[in-house]
Amino acid sequence: MTVTETFDIHSPTTGGLVGSFPVLGVDAVEEVVAHARGAGRWWAGLGFRERSRRLRRWAADIAAHEIELAQLIALETGKPLPDAVLEVALTLDHLAWAGRNASRVLGKRRVSRTILTANQSASLRYEPFGVVGVIGPWNYPVFTPMGSIAYALAAGNAVVFKPSEFTTATGAWLVESFARVVPEHPVLQQVSGRGGTGAALCRSGVDKVSFTGSTTTGARVMATCAESLTPVVLELGGKDALIVDVDADVSAAADAAAFGGVSNAGQSCTAVERVFVVAERYDQFVAELSAILRNLTPGSQDGASYGPMTMPSQVEVVRRHVDAALADGGRAVVGGPESVGDRLIGPILLTDVPPGNIAATEETFGPTIVVTKVRDLDQAIELANSTPFGLAASVFGKRRAQEAAERLRVGMVSINSWVMYAGVPALSWGGVGSSGFGRIHGADGLREFARSKAITRQQFKAPISLTSFSRAKRATDIVVRYDRLRHRR
Ligand code: NAD
Repeated sequence: MTVTETFDIHSPTTGGLVGSFPVLGVDAVEEVVAHARGAGRWWAGLGFRERSRRLRRWAADIAAHEIELAQLIALETGKPLPDAVLEVALTLDHLAWAGRNASRVLGKRRVSRTILTANQSASLRYEPFGVVGVIGPWNYPVFTPMGSIAYALAAGNAVVFKPSEFTTATGAWLVESFARVVPEHPVLQQVSGRGGTGAALCRSGVDKVSFTGSTTTGARVMATCAESLTPVVLELGGKDALIVDVDADVSAAADAAAFGGVSNAGQSCTAVERVFVVAERYDQFVAELSAILRNLTPGSQDGASYGPMTMPSQVEVVRRHVDAALADGGRAVVGGPESVGDRLIGPILLTDVPPGNIAATEETFGPTIVVTKVRDLDQAIELANSTPFGLAASVFGKRRAQEAAERLRVGMVSINSWVMYAGVPALSWGGVGSSGFGRIHGADGLREFARSKAITRQQFKAPISLTSFSRAKRATDIVVRYDRLRHRR
């Protein structure tokens, strides 16, 4: 493999060099995918039981080195170590679940027939695609891509992973760890590089692409994959809402909004970017949330609440949104434009932001929260549903919380907590609208990485054949009579 260019990764916290990686071009990516193809056949041939055993061993290897991996995540992303540990812990549960449940979800099963097909036995099986390309972001460099990698592997695919150019060392760590438990063939490989390498992976002949990243890039990935009709899963950005109803535990809601809004410097796809609070609870909520945010200590020091922005260019997006909100009549209750530093951004709480302002409609991806007073739960739901995004949401309340969860136009909802759906592997993960489509995690996540195959087998000759030129004239009369009886109301 000839590689002419490399790129460096510097830690947002220490500024030190984390590593230098090759930029893989079209030929190099195709070479990796060619190796993956043979490895995939071998991996698929191992069957569910052996794959599950290997995935359990992989989880054991990661668990044995959990702190080492978390330290690397923290170094590359800038997030505090406890957040990185939590990320790995959640990932391990998914890895174990995917391996354990693949056979149940994807194993061959018999299905029922109808009178017209009574002479057939019918079965459904799920086959792996072959090679799945996974393109990942940097904000959760283990949890996020592993939502695709673990489920694609459990379904019997080989995986070629293109990690973010900001977190490539973490990606390389995962691949090395996997190779310790599956040394025979390159079932999981990495292709390093920037967007061009991701595009090369889309064009490389992989059988499916699972992309997690921004909505803009997702649209590009879909267009590239369309050239070869390569199917895609798109896990994209969000503008998630948290709703506080009249019977909510306001302190718990403020605590969740603070952590959901500004932990990881707000760089979570499911970050709480908008909060809708019913009028009766508004003042108490803003006071409690402000008190929590004012006490936070962002930075790179030990015990910091959250770290610097991972991607330098995101700082300008945050600045633009804050400025736009204030220029449009919004108020900065905590922090303000002065909180936006070179790389570190202090927590910013905005109120009175008009609903059409970009701070309330576009993904900010920074430690800012826009809080809006609403008349009642119905208005909160209406406003929460008013963006093209639809990833996830949180609802705090009692009597009508379930109803609200069902009316929200999103893929995931946490009632009386933030993001807890991420920790239940049996639940699916994915959005609607500009937040993407397709599902990872859970049974739907396993099926996303397999294609169903339908098989019928004739058990005996049907007394009346309908699919033959020699069919009897009376056959049609019998069908019509049968249909009238069967579907009579
Ligand atoms: P990004 O879109 O900039 O990059 C994501 C990946 O795509 C990177 O690996 C990048 O190199 C690659 N890429 C860039 N251009 C490409 C192209 N033309 N073809 C193929 N690949 C290309 O996103 P990011 O900044 O790394 O991540 C942040 C975004 O990800 C946010 O919008 C966030 O909401 C979203 N995100 C979504 C989820 C989810 O599950 N829905 C999870 C985490 C992050």
